[in-house]
Parts: sequence; structure tokens; C-alpha cells
Amino acid sequence: NEQNPFEYVSTSYRVTFGKGILSQLPSLVEKLGCKAVLVLSTPEQTGIAERVTSILGATAVSTFTQAAMHTPTHVTEKALSQAKASGVDGIVSVGGGSTIGLGKALSVRTALPNLCIPTTYAGSEMTPILGETENGRKTTRRSPDILPAAVLYDVDLTMTLPVKMSVNSGINAIAHGVEALYASNGNPIIDLMACEGIKSLCEALPALQLDSGDDDARYKALYGAWLCGMCLGAVDMALHHKLCHTLGGSLNLPHAETHVSVLPHAVAYNAPSAPLAMAKLAAALPDGDGDPVRGINALYRRLGIDPSLKSLGMPEDGIDKAADIAVSNPYKNPRPLERGALRELVRRAWAGEQAS
Ligand code: NAD
Repeated sequence: NEQNPFEYVSTSYRVTFGKGILSQLPSLVEKLGCKAVLVLSTPEQTGIAERVTSILGATAVSTFTQAAMHTPTHVTEKALSQAKASGVDGIVSVGGGSTIGLGKALSVRTALPNLCIPTTYAGSEMTPILGETENGRKTTRRSPDILPAAVLYDVDLTMTLPVKMSVNSGINAIAHGVEALYASNGNPIIDLMACEGIKSLCEALPALQLDSGDDDARYKALYGAWLCGMCLGAVDMALHHKLCHTLGGSLNLPHAETHVSVLPHAVAYNAPSAPLAMAKLAAALPDGDGDPVRGINALYRRLGIDPSLKSLGMPEDGIDKAADIAVSNPYKNPRPLERGALRELVRRAWAGEQAS
């Protein structure tokens, strides 16, 4: 119902967005009151960590370049010892969700401010959510003290993101916007951000596929990812994110690619039970034509992606396992969780069939 009561909780932190603005980093660090920071990155992004270090000069007192997917706690412990030994008063996390996850894990353990410089479209920098892995088990928690202190988006830092990763990461971001539109605690402000974010990413991704160095498309993609990241942080996600979490966690499937495979099927599952959200989604998709599932299928055709969970390495017997886990922990979703229909959803995503 369009006239449902709603609540909008705003969070207060600085977001600086632009192209070629990494040079503003020292003044942002100063605004946070930091005089000695630890710079974080993955082993693949030591080059950008070095650039950040040289821009910060004497303020960057230590660098840790071993951030890893799913924030393993043994890596966090190592970084924590280094942070303590070098007496830092702040953290600068430059990279994708893996590096930002490590920054959050350190920040929540030490209360040090975490300034994030995202280089993918995953959106972790906008959320008070932290997923950590210990002995192969991933647990996720949500708390205001996980939220970064400030975020600097520099479009230039996304230019090196390979096309395939850009597309997968961009659709991962679109999925945040999609589920925000039918969130149980959704609100009109977040709906605006979701629609604008989805539109911006849908314009950007096909252009990036033609030319990964397209400045304008890179700008639009990062802008859309920011807005969709806000949606992820602000309202509760439903079936799509829970399924992807289950598939990623229990079957060890890659994060962004799993989102790509599941999204059209999750939308098809929920479509009959969320007509208002689906109308908004269809209007945000370039070829939505009143039907969001057709719109997503058309986007995938334009991007030349034909994803299946099977091609990501999921075994066929994972279908029942995923359906069982998906119904075992109930959560709010527009359409009730029905074991048979969910199994069919996962089977179709597994086989790479077109959603309908
Ligand atoms: P990622 O951070 O693991 O990055 C993937 C690879 O790409 C890494 O090797 C990285 O160094 C490299 N890379 C990143 N940016 C690059 C660039 N601009 N150019 C070249 N290479 C680049 O991937 P991701 O998809 O950003 O993050 C996934 C992780 O983040 C998962 O663990 C996921 O669970 C987590 N995540 C958490 C949240 C949250 O709110 N807590 C939200 C989204 C994702």
C-alpha cells in the first residue's frame, strides 16, 4: 500500500564523490582527527595502497596488504597486532568489499575511525554490516559501530576494474536496489535512491562492456553503486540476499557471480506478491515495459550474460540443500517461502534457464 506508515533513519557521515579527487584524502583524514593511519588493501592492490601512502605522507605510518575474501578472523588478528604495534589512530581501507570488510573488523574491535575508498560496486562502505569467517564458518552481524566514519569515491580508481568484474559487481549493486523496493521496512526515500541507482547502473554497464575506459559510464556506475549501497545499509534485504548468502556460505560460490545468477529468478518469485515495487522496478529498467522480469532478462541479453549456478561449480545436489536452508530460518519476504517453489527457483538458476 502506497500510504503505509514508514520510518526513515538517516546516518551521519561524510561522503565525498568525484573524479580524480584522491588528492583530497589528507584533508579528509585530518577532519577525522587522525594523525597516524594504517592503510589496508588486498595483495592484488598494493599499487593503489602505495599511492594512498604517498599522498598521505607521514600520516600513513603502516600498510597491511593481506585483506582476503569473507574477512577471515586470522587475517584480522594479524592486522590488529600490526595496528597496535604501530600505534595508529585511524584506518584507511582502499579496495572492494574484502578490504572494506577488514577495515570494519578492525574498527569494531578498536573503535578507530575507518575511512573507506571503494574500488568496486559491492557497497559494503555504506552498511553497518560485517561478515566474518572463522574455521570456515561465516557469521554476519549488524551494528552502528561497524559503519565507516567517511567514504571517498574517486571514479578514477574504478577504471582498472576488469569488464567482467564490473558487470558482476554492478548487478550485485542492482540487487541491493531491487530488494530495497520491497523491503518490509522500506520507505519512499530509499525507493528514490533504489530507482535512481538501478537506472544509473543500467545505463552504465552496457556502455562499460563496449569500452571499460568510458569515463561517463564509470561515473554513472559508481554513482549508482553508492545509491544502491545506501539501500543495502538502510533496509532489510529478503529472499534474494538470503539465498545468495546461503549459496555463498554453504556451497562456497563466488559473491557477485552468485547474485547475477539468482537475481532474475528471485524477482520472478516475488513479482506476484509485490506489485507496487515491481512497477517501480520495471520503470527503472530500460526495457522493463511494465514487466521487471522481462526487463532484467533484456539487460542480461544486452550484457551478453547467461549465468548459471552450475557454471560457478555448484553441484546438482546443492539445489535441495539450498532450498532446505532457505526455508529453515524464516525472514520477512513479500511472498511466503514455499519449499517447492523455492527449489524450482534454485533449480532454474542452477540450470541457467531464463526467468519467467
Ligand atoms: P573484492 O573486494 O574481493 O575484490 C575482488 C578482487 O578485485 C580483489 O582481488 C581486489 O583486489 C580486486 N579489485 C578491486 N577493485 C579493483 C579495481 N578497481 N581494479 C582492479 N582490481 C580490483 O570483491 P567485492 O565484490 O568488492 O567484495 C566482495 C566481498 O565483500 C565479499 O566477501 C562480500 O561478502 C563482502 N560484502 C560485504 C558487504 C557488507 O555490507 N558487509 C556488502 C557487499 C559485499
